[in-house]
Amino acid sequence: MYNDPRYQLLETTESPETGSTGYRYEHLKTGAQVLWLKNDDDNKAFGVGFRTPPTDSTGVAHIVEHSVLSGSRKFKGREPFMEMYKSSMQTFLNAMTFSDMTIYPISSKNDQDFLNLADVYLDAVFFPAIYDKPEIFMQEGWHYELFREEDPITYKGVVYNEMRGAYGNPERQVMQQMSQTMHPDGTYSHESGGFPYHVPELTEENFQAFHQRYYHPSNAFIYLYGDVPAEDIFNLIDEEYLSQFEKTEPNSEVVPGTIPSAPIKAEHYYNAGSGAKPSEESYFGYSVILGETTDLYDAFMQPLVSDVLISSESSPLKQVLLEKKFGQAILPAGSDGIFEEFGFVVKGADEARFDEFIEVTEATIRQMAEDGVDRGALLAALNRTEMSLRESGGSLKGIYFFIRSVGAHRYGVNPMDALNFNQTFDRIRADIENGGFEKYLKERILDNPAKVMTLHLPQAGQFQVLDDELADKLKLYKDSLTREEIRQLIADNERLLKYQQTEDSPEDKATIPKLDLNDIQREVAEIPSEKQILDNSTLLVQEYPSMGIRYLHLAFDLDFVTTEELPYLAYLGRLLGIVDTKQRGYSELNNEIYQVSSGFRFAPSVLRPVDGSNYALKMMVTTSALAGQSKRMFDILAEVLLETTFNDADRIKDVLQKMRSDMEMGFESSGHSVAANRASSYFSPTAKINEQLGGIDLFDHLQELLNDYDNRQAELMRIITSLYERIFTSKGLIAS
Ligand SMILES: [Zn+2]
Repeated sequence: MYNDPRYQLLETTESPETGSTGYRYEHLKTGAQVLWLKNDDDNKAFGVGFRTPPTDSTGVAHIVEHSVLSGSRKFKGREPFMEMYKSSMQTFLNAMTFSDMTIYPISSKNDQDFLNLADVYLDAVFFPAIYDKPEIFMQEGWHYELFREEDPITYKGVVYNEMRGAYGNPERQVMQQMSQTMHPDGTYSHESGGFPYHVPELTEENFQAFHQRYYHPSNAFIYLYGDVPAEDIFNLIDEEYLSQFEKTEPNSEVVPGTIPSAPIKAEHYYNAGSGAKPSEESYFGYSVILGETTDLYDAFMQPLVSDVLISSESSPLKQVLLEKKFGQAILPAGSDGIFEEFGFVVKGADEARFDEFIEVTEATIRQMAEDGVDRGALLAALNRTEMSLRESGGSLKGIYFFIRSVGAHRYGVNPMDALNFNQTFDRIRADIENGGFEKYLKERILDNPAKVMTLHLPQAGQFQVLDDELADKLKLYKDSLTREEIRQLIADNERLLKYQQTEDSPEDKATIPKLDLNDIQREVAEIPSEKQILDNSTLLVQEYPSMGIRYLHLAFDLDFVTTEELPYLAYLGRLLGIVDTKQRGYSELNNEIYQVSSGFRFAPSVLRPVDGSNYALKMMVTTSALAGQSKRMFDILAEVLLETTFNDADRIKDVLQKMRSDMEMGFESSGHSVAANRASSYFSPTAKINEQLGGIDLFDHLQELLNDYDNRQAELMRIITSLYERIFTSKGLIAS
């Protein structure tokens, strides 16, 4: 425990679920909440989070998140965040805007580095340079861009551009429309990231006011995890930061808004490319409010319900929707706010079948509720949910527990209750034995009035209309300016450009904390490893504290794979474990897998050996299981590796269609890294291989394959089967 008169200890709670003792403090002067999960983990974590409920869709929370990372009182430079990203020993460093909160987590294994990172983040959130440098709002938010008098004025800005990109994805529009139908008023009717056409409504004054109100110690939740240097960090937090503020009343509670008192059926249009057909490119949405996250029972039932109904490969609902060909893929849709919602979207649907879709969906859930859900499927889902809670985050557990605890705290729930899930889980397990799951389906989904069913039709050029309106508005604006004002605008833009292009001065650079050589532990912490050579393969055994979970990694040789076969390797990795084996169908197989493990992952990967020699291509197989279930886990894994059959062409097509849809979503959300890898693939051989295993090359290949599936399915199955037979032998296998 750590004693400090400036912080009042509110409670001490043992937490077997996180392997920690939780100390909850309140900073006396400001009311800031501090939680320390103390344990031996040397991957220490720090986080600070604020409730930031938006009251419009200008994206103010998102713009503030970006802006505070652009320099602060102590850490001058333009991008201390990026500098730390490059130079520190961080194991995690990020910032995230949710629908009603914003969080800043870091982790590091080095004490001094941990303190430096915490210092940089605290200075950023409490003393950002946004009040002194108007360029920051112009750059991160939005500004009128003009460099030559004769040109038209346009809008520019990092968040503005980012959200234009995000809204280029139809799924983002569809999910937002569903949420707006469910939450017509209150916090969740707004887009916290910013709706691109509303971003320019944000004034610099409102931007600063938002920061001033919410980024205050009285609205802050500070989190520490692991074997942290207690005295140093508690001193830093108080002396340099909290003590400089007076207590306020931030009034930052979310406004949940009206909940539908009867099911709502609604139609929306989303922006689509020309030629998009409502008979092929519509979306169906279905969503209900199960309860509130403040009720831990509902908070854990939500992932379970979603898993059983939508995510699991054995879900009867998913199967019937795909069998009846309602669409190409089914995507989960949820909320990250106070409501626990079960929702999903059918992509690539025919508008004419909307009513039939609702009927089939409800009839299938009703049948599950009445006949009872398959026990195997239910236990698999329960195990999957529990495993993902227990080992969540892997080596980044500290970060994951931060998100869980700040997530609970924002609604006034004691974060230790949210972390200690054993009791709630035992209750759910017992209820499931007594028909509780079926009852839940009936009460919370079928009979629930808080439900929306949405049809989203493609509309070509919807954004074009908005863009045209925008251009008119900007033209009117320009016409309203005097020559003097236009010159001023150009001067502002030139000043911004200069700001962006000027390198940080040596003095500014020197403010970024650097680690001293003495701070760095020379020896890389080594996990003791025992090595055995068996015939053709190598077995490594490592012992380390893992809270009763055993981890297995297998690396199979892929030296013989040809360039033409690379895309098929990716398909094979995707199909294993979710297509039939000789012994059972994929649905039963999937239940078996998740009853005994956290799931199997198969990923063809380019590995770089530590000795710096040439890269190697391996099929990585990873899984984990509770100690008592290891034996069964090995049996099922062996079945997948040795007895999978690839002859169900329809099933394979369903899986590959879902793969295409996932890739599309991935490109939208991580455009930068996709483009970066694409670019480096022209000179780096490993990037080239990665392109074919997961980049745009693979996507193009998959697209062609699906467009001509009937003609190419025989070839596909032949190549996959041949790869499968060559890969999974013990020759060259490394197991750990
Ligand atoms: Zn952003």
